[in-house]
Amino acid sequence: MTELPVLHPPAGLLEVADGLEAGGYQAWAVGGAIRDALLGRSRADWDLATDALPEEVRALFPRTVPLGPEHGTVGVLAEDGTLYEVTTFRLDVETDGRHAVVEFAATIEEDLARRDFTINSIAWRPSTEELRDPFGGSADLQNRVLRAVGDPWRRFTEDYLRVLRAFRFAGLHELEIEAETRAALAGSVEHLPRLSAERVREELLKVIASPAPSTALDLYADYGALKGWYRELAPAVEGPLWTETLAAVDSVPAHRSFLRVVRLLLAAGAGGGGDAEAAEAILRRLKFSNAEIRRGTRLVEHYLPLVHPADGSATLRKWLHSVGPDQARDLFRLHFAAARASGSVEGQRALLFTWQRVHDELVQAAPVTLSQLAVDGSDLLELGLPRGPLVGVMLEELLEQVIESPERNERETLLGSARELIELGGLDSLDSPESDGPE
Ligand code: ATP
Ligand code: MG
Repeated sequence: MTELPVLHPPAGLLEVADGLEAGGYQAWAVGGAIRDALLGRSRADWDLATDALPEEVRALFPRTVPLGPEHGTVGVLAEDGTLYEVTTFRLDVETDGRHAVVEFAATIEEDLARRDFTINSIAWRPSTEELRDPFGGSADLQNRVLRAVGDPWRRFTEDYLRVLRAFRFAGLHELEIEAETRAALAGSVEHLPRLSAERVREELLKVIASPAPSTALDLYADYGALKGWYRELAPAVEGPLWTETLAAVDSVPAHRSFLRVVRLLLAAGAGGGGDAEAAEAILRRLKFSNAEIRRGTRLVEHYLPLVHPADGSATLRKWLHSVGPDQARDLFRLHFAAARASGSVEGQRALLFTWQRVHDELVQAAPVTLSQLAVDGSDLLELGLPRGPLVGVMLEELLEQVIESPERNERETLLGSARELIELGGLDSLDSPESDGPE
């Protein structure tokens, strides 16, 4: 029926498939690799499905890794060192919208029937070059249609993650969602809050890693799927902010995935964006790491105001001091993405100019942090300042002088300055009651 497409599996996959077939088992390439191959896109990670049980797979190959024996997946190392996932045919026996109880199945047809969309339920057997496509996935691919396997309502009820997966596949591959699938999606979004934060986050990161996340994210918005997990983003969808945001997310280079997330979260909050608390709430809800929550929240907080081309050097250094060098780079990356997205040549030129100047400050290592100061706390103690919070206050004061005039960052100059301040304030005569001398 279907014209046999030319598939180009990697050599390592053929080696593993041959090994299984030689052992008397079936080896079927399945899932995303077949879908992408039919779309003419090559990829490295091909997965195999087999009727061999996990321990039988392990017995066939010299180098294997158990990848989740409970799921029936064994990693097999090909000679070239690539790891291929070999999974025993499976069948869902019980589902609750979040997890499935799976059993091993006897046939590839059963295995294909438990998969989510027709385009993901195509199998190809290298040994016979046979394509098994019981749900018409190749035709759907050709016609650019996303369709659930079987009854869409049931399929989403079994696992609500499939709702978000639908948006990702439809967005990424520019597929029209088939009418019944569409209705079932619309009726299922309200159950998304039942998913675990980890699965929702990982799914978001897959969307974010795709070349242009905007199409899938826009489907999230259209179907009301932002309401639960991303509720602080929902108000943005009503206005022009959303279109700007999506374009800017696409403009952040794909390998800076966390910055893409931050660019998205800049639209969170009722006040039209830039609401650090709203962004933080989403990051926390999705259980991002503490470091990511901190980084994301700080970036949203410091996104505006940015330094300006007309600002003086001291202002630039003060800004650098308040955000730090790493964050400064990230902030400029975010602003560049927004300017690129809006197509504003003027905006990009101004950013480029400002960044050049910030960069010069960084390269000249004009001191902006305490560690770059030519004196430290022990110097101040030697001048007679008592141990305690005043040491920090004094250092901050000296740093401020240096940010204002970098040439002051000389030991003698700063010590002179400190001596003067200590004397002026009578600070050395302050006796701290607990300490009777340096420890
Ligand atoms: P990609 O790796 O490009 O994101 P993929 O199709 O390989 O896409 P995976 O999440 O790696 O997606 O899953 C591999 C295959 O397993 C899918 O093609 C699909 O057949 C099946 N599958 C994965 N997750 C589900 C799910 N939640 N429900 C049903 N089938 C699924
Ligand atoms: Mg995959």
